[in-house]
Order: sequence, then structure tokens, then C-alpha cells
Amino acid sequence: MVTTHELATQQRAQELYAQAATDHVEYWAERSRTEVHWDTPFTEILDWSNPPFARWFADGTTNACYNAVDRHVAAGNGDRVALYFEGEPGDSQAVTYAELLERVSQTANALESLGIAKGDRVAIYLPMLVEAVVAILACARIGAVHSVVFGGFSAEALRSRIDDAEAKVVITADGSYRRGKPNMLKPIVDEALTQDGHTVEHVLVVRRNGEDITWVEGRDAWFDDVVDAQPTTHEIVWHEAEHPLFILYTSGTTGTPKGILHTTGGYLTQVTATARDTFDLQPETDVFWCTADVGWVTGHSYIVYGPMSNGATQVIYEGTPDAPHRGRWWEIVEKYGVTTLYTAPTAIRAAMKWGRDIADRYDLSSLRLLGSVGEAINPEAWYWYREVIGNNNGAGTVNEDGSVTPGPRKTDPVPIADTWWQTETGAHILTPLPALTAEQLKPGSAQRAVPGVAIDVVDEDGNTMQDTSQGFLVIREPWPAMARTIWGDDQRFVDTYWSRFNGMYFAGDGARFDEDGDIWLLGRVDDVMNVSGHRLSTTEIESALVAHPLVAEAAVVGAADETTGQAIYAFVILTEESDGVAGEKAEATLREHVASHIGPIAKPRRILVTSDLPKTRSGKIMRRLLKDAAEGKTQADATALATLADPAVMEEILNGMRG
Ligand code: ATP
Ligand code: MG
Repeated sequence: MVTTHELATQQRAQELYAQAATDHVEYWAERSRTEVHWDTPFTEILDWSNPPFARWFADGTTNACYNAVDRHVAAGNGDRVALYFEGEPGDSQAVTYAELLERVSQTANALESLGIAKGDRVAIYLPMLVEAVVAILACARIGAVHSVVFGGFSAEALRSRIDDAEAKVVITADGSYRRGKPNMLKPIVDEALTQDGHTVEHVLVVRRNGEDITWVEGRDAWFDDVVDAQPTTHEIVWHEAEHPLFILYTSGTTGTPKGILHTTGGYLTQVTATARDTFDLQPETDVFWCTADVGWVTGHSYIVYGPMSNGATQVIYEGTPDAPHRGRWWEIVEKYGVTTLYTAPTAIRAAMKWGRDIADRYDLSSLRLLGSVGEAINPEAWYWYREVIGNNNGAGTVNEDGSVTPGPRKTDPVPIADTWWQTETGAHILTPLPALTAEQLKPGSAQRAVPGVAIDVVDEDGNTMQDTSQGFLVIREPWPAMARTIWGDDQRFVDTYWSRFNGMYFAGDGARFDEDGDIWLLGRVDDVMNVSGHRLSTTEIESALVAHPLVAEAAVVGAADETTGQAIYAFVILTEESDGVAGEKAEATLREHVASHIGPIAKPRRILVTSDLPKTRSGKIMRRLLKDAAEGKTQADATALATLADPAVMEEILNGMRG
């Protein structure tokens, strides 16, 4: 059954697709004029005279902070909650747009009082606190370029990012809480700055967990001391559309991190428009929760700039999903009446592994739309996400034996937006808009380009694929939120993204069309396997494995092999219900399962059962380490190891491969 609201959404989406199809450049100009507040309206739309260095709306002036905060207060919505902060220990805070404006203004004044001027770089190394959002917006307000470094990174990683951007200030915290224990940050900043030769003049420290920290006189100051002393108003200054907004380093799955540079007007246009379209965002009534950390692009675009520019009410949460218990996320959804949840497949698979009994205890009936990002979502996880989380229409009952009988279900299944995009693209590129009916959605496929983006799947020579076999995902025309360059390295920008296919942006991902012209992502091209002349996708084999009841998570790689070219190796984590199934038996069962699911050619040579997989701090599987292990390397590459959330997992895997 299609509700009236869905109908309105569908009609709107059809209009957007139609407008964009006529003239995508004019389409973005029109979106920008309606969704973004410009002080000086632009007259130039796109300057592509020096590709691949795009300029969008270049003669206009605006301010990203004004769009995210001031304009909502000016429109009379100052009392609306901007952020519900939920701390891991259970403390919480509701901050309205009016309060946020005062705090951001004070922080902008504070930065200026420390000598930070337009164009200077500020490193932000914070946990998920209100101050992280405040610091980002204060930088945007004065035109300082923020470089947020995820709070899980090491001193070395932090230092290399500080040096690369030549940051003058670091904004950090004493520490935060992680699984009930203090998780310290300030000592890491101290360590990063031990060696001279850096550009940092001031370190501002947010007081969060109150643990003892050491202090460098003259350099360090408490954030509150400096900020509280400032006036609560700050006169807005306008920035050119192409003024740099932020630098953000990619997560490093495929090589050394690249400092991706985004600028103001085009980025703001596309994140504002896509936040609204993809999530059908209704700022007056929605409670939006994107579970990403602000240290990743998802946090930049779909916590700070996109939703806030729309005046949305959001939840931010400091801790992990299992602290103090595995129902914490669902408890938060229930507590705040979250309507829209945007998370990553890795989190869904973890929740699946813990079992649905946990989520079923909670009332998740407020949810009306779900989103996924970061990697392809396996169909198995997609169905689970929709049925267990999305279709929950009330808390279940806990039985005497501790099991849970699920509560009522919804009559209409909630849509899932599987969004494909990258740090480099700045905003959503592929996603089925919720305009699609439940029947039209395809679990595991990001389906189609957002209006105004010219996506294609091409062959080796850059020609559009004529069949449904595997090709390369490219973007043929510039889009507003595209990266402008790699900070300080224009040549690397050209080499990395623009040289593989003439005049097209190459994302690095493999993809294919299906019979309807919808797009399926197949993993990084570096990960695509060639077995006896057959091109096989890591993503597809992984999805087949995850679809088996024994498997919670799977990673597949191709290892060099003299006879077949490449041989398939799979690494799997078993589900908790699989207790007692011996490794060998599981391996045999799963090999047959893949053979019957995809074909005998896809049968992994070896399946190693492991307790964990090597994941980056953003939750992505680092396949290159697994490939090394499959190829017989007995030691893991040190630089790759350093980017893992838990480097110890590789020991078990290397041991397992030897056995
Ligand atoms: P690096 O570029 O340093 O290796 P990274 O690519 O992991 O790091 P991000 O920009 O955060 O850094 O991630 C973008 C990548 O994530 C995409 O190129 C794609 O491989 C994957 N990805 C993101 N969303 C999806 C999705 N919905 N479906 C499939 N893959 C996705
Ligand atoms: Mg990448």
C-alpha cells in the first residue's frame, strides 16, 4: 500500500530526475538557489575550463555555518533541538539551534583571539561530542579550514595529518569513554607533538572524562576557559564559493591516505540537497541519527553539513553499540523516537551476530527510513535490517526462558537507502531515493545515480558496458560536491582519479548494470579476482557466504596462483548459534554452499574460520592484508597494520594460514 506521504515523495523525485535530465548544470544551479542561502548570488554556475579542477558557483558568496545554524534561528526555529547528545555513561544533553549559534559564535571568537584567520588550518581530534560539531562550524564560520582526524588514530597518524595540513591549532579532549573505560586523547596529541618541527601553536582541550593529563604551559588551554570568556555573538563574514571548507584524509584501505579538499558552495549545495532527497528529510518532525563518527566523511556530510543545513534534529552518540549492553543503539532509538537511521553494514552484521532477540526487546516503531553506507550491504544483512529494525512496530515480549517474541510489525516495509559515495565525491552519488516503492528496491544494489550526477559503468576502454558483466564505475560530468584536489598535490589528484579513463572520474570500484539498468557495486577493482579467466567479484562471494546461517561475516580475496591465475580464499566469522560446528565441517559446508550459490568456479580454495577480521578504524575490511596472508606472507605489512582498529587479529589469521 502506498501512503499519501510516499506518493508526494515519489512525485517529487520524478520531478527532480526529469529536471536534472534536461540540463544537469542548470539543475544544480536551481537546487543551489533554493536550498542554500547566498549573500552574493552567483551568476557563474560551472567553470570546467581547466579539468579536472572544477569551479562551481564561483562568483557567489555564502557561509556554511550560516546555512547550518544562523538561518534557522533567523527563521524562528531557534528553539528546535539541533543535537541530542547521548554520552556513553548515560549523560545526555539537548542543544537547540539558538544555543548552538551562541556556542559556535563564542568558539569563532575564541579562534580569532588565538590569531586564527581565514585560510588557516585547524586540526580537530575529538570524540563524538557536541564540541566536535561546534568546532567544525566555528572553523567554517571564520573561513578556517578544518581537518578532522578520527579520534581512534595513533599519534603518528595524527602527526602526519597535522604536518600535511600545517595546522596551527589542535582541538582535542582529555579523553572520552569507551566500553566504560576512559579512552584518552590528550596524551596522544602530546606524543604527536613531542618532536619539534610542527606548526601547532595552541592546543585547546575539551574537558570530558576528567582524567589526569599533562599540560604544556603556553601551548595548552582548556576549551571552556577560552570559549566561555568570549561574546556570544559573532558577525558573519561571507566566503567565496570556492573557499576551502575542509581537508579530510581517506580511510586508507587502498594506500596512503589522501588529503581530500572540499570547498564551500558546491559541497554545501549537494549535501543539503541529498540529505533532503535521500532521507526524505522532514526537519519539523524527523529525528535523524547517523551513527558515523565526525572523523569520517559521512559525519561531515550527513551529521554536520547536510542535515544541519536543512535544520534537522539529530542524535549523536559517544560510545560503542555494545556499551554497557548490546541493546544500546535500540535503546537510543526508542528514547529519542529516531525516525531515520543511517549506519554501516558492518554494524548491521554485528547486530545480526548478536541475534535479533536483543533488538526485539525495544520499541523501534518511530523508524520510517533506514540508510546504509561504507561498503556493499549483503542482501542477507539488508533483509535483516529491514525486518528486524525497520519493521518493528512495538517492543516484543520477553518470555520466561529469556527468549523474546517479536512485537507487532509494520504494514508497509520501511525503505532502505543504500548509498554509494566516497570521501572524494563529498555527497551521495548512487542511492535508490525513497521514491522507489518497496517492490522496486533491490537488496544489495545502490541502484541509481542521484539526480544531476552522470554515472556510468564502462569497459577497459571507457565505453559504456553493453551487457551485465563487470566494468568500472565512473562519473562522466563534474558534480558540485566533487573533491577539488588532494591538498598540496594536484598531480596526485590527476593521477589517482582522472588518468585511467580520459576525461572521466574513476572511483576505483568495480560495478555492473543489471537488466533494468540498475547498478551493483562489486568491490574495489584491486579486489576483483580473475580465476581461470573468469572475473569474479569479492562482494558477491562474500554475500553468498553471509547468506549461510553459519556465517556472521566474510572477507574474500584472490591470491596469485600459478595455474588458475588467482585462487579464492575466504575468511569467515561464524555466528554465535553455530557454536560447536568444527572448523573443518564448516569449511566443507560453506565451499559447497558457494558452489551451489554462484557456481563451482567460485568455490574458495580455502575457507579459514577466524574470530575476527582485519578492519580499519572506520569498520572496513582491509583485504590487502588478507591477500598477503593467502599468498603465504608470514608477516603483515606494518603500515597497513597501523591503520587497523585491532592489529592483533592478523596474528590469529597468519597462524591459521600456517596450520
Ligand atoms: P581509501 O580510499 O583510502 O582506500 P576508502 O575508500 O575506504 O579509503 P571512503 O571514501 O570512506 O574511504 O570510502 C569510499 C569507498 O567505500 C567506496 O569507494 C566503496 O568502495 C565503498 N563504499 C561506500 N559505500 C558503498 C556502498 N553503498 N556500496 C558499496 N561500496 C561502498
Ligand atoms: Mg577510496
